[in-house]
Amino acid sequence: MPARQQTEAAIGVDVGGTRIRAGRIDASGRILDRIIEPVVSNQEGFVSQILRMISTVQRPGDRRVGVGLPGRVRARSNEIISAGYLDIAGIDLATGIERQTGLSARLDNDAMMALLAEVHVADADDGDLALMVTVGTGIGGAIALAGKPWHGGDFAGQFGHIVVSETGPICNCGRTGCVETFSSGTALARLIKEAGFPEDTRAETLFCMAEQEDSTARAVLQTWAGPMQRALQTLVAVVDPDRIVIGGGLGAEMCRALHVLPENGSWFSTPIRPAKLGDDAGVIGAGLHALQEENV
Ligand SMILES: [Zn+2]
Repeated sequence: MPARQQTEAAIGVDVGGTRIRAGRIDASGRILDRIIEPVVSNQEGFVSQILRMISTVQRPGDRRVGVGLPGRVRARSNEIISAGYLDIAGIDLATGIERQTGLSARLDNDAMMALLAEVHVADADDGDLALMVTVGTGIGGAIALAGKPWHGGDFAGQFGHIVVSETGPICNCGRTGCVETFSSGTALARLIKEAGFPEDTRAETLFCMAEQEDSTARAVLQTWAGPMQRALQTLVAVVDPDRIVIGGGLGAEMCRALHVLPENGSWFSTPIRPAKLGDDAGVIGAGLHALQEENV
């Protein structure tokens, strides 16, 4: 048997905010088979759900599974440090998966999985340095070097905690001025409310109003995206990446808002693009990540 088989597949699992996706992914990033279920958020239910979903898509000969989780994962040791709304911090999920399914499991942050899929599949060009910034309830991120995860010490890519102001709301990290407190989905909801718009106003509505010269809607979008622009310019100033993919539930909206900001006179060119693979990015990247295991 050759050491590497380009035709083989691995299982990818993406644990999202409301759903788990599990699929078989080939080396080109094609989804061969998949299932999607609402997440069972209590610990025991979650573990049995993920084991069952992996077993459902597993085929004879499969050897590996990649799992993307929200929160902080120490990827080199498969440790779950925190997992957002899921009560699974500290559990040894990888060993549980290996015992139950016989598959070698690799855990990582969900943004990392999405970034791997975006560079391998959407761009078909690993390039040198690619960054992902996710805009959802919070702001997350990931870094890939030549198509492989780059974690720094352990947790590189916490872009939500780039400080862009001396003042502002207290961040979850305990500091003041983090971009997450200004440019996340949570922050947009706050800005919408403070501007006097109905609480269920969507970003799309703000864009329509701004195009019709509604100055309040335009101000909300600019106040939301301006701090993100400063954070992205800081990233470019430090590492000058090939590309910055803006993903997450509000990634497309943030990209659009960034493009309508007034010029700020900076010499920085920020090579941003919206994520292209949508909800499939995480499960594809998790499968690709598992397939990369042979090379490390
Ligand atoms: Zn912070």
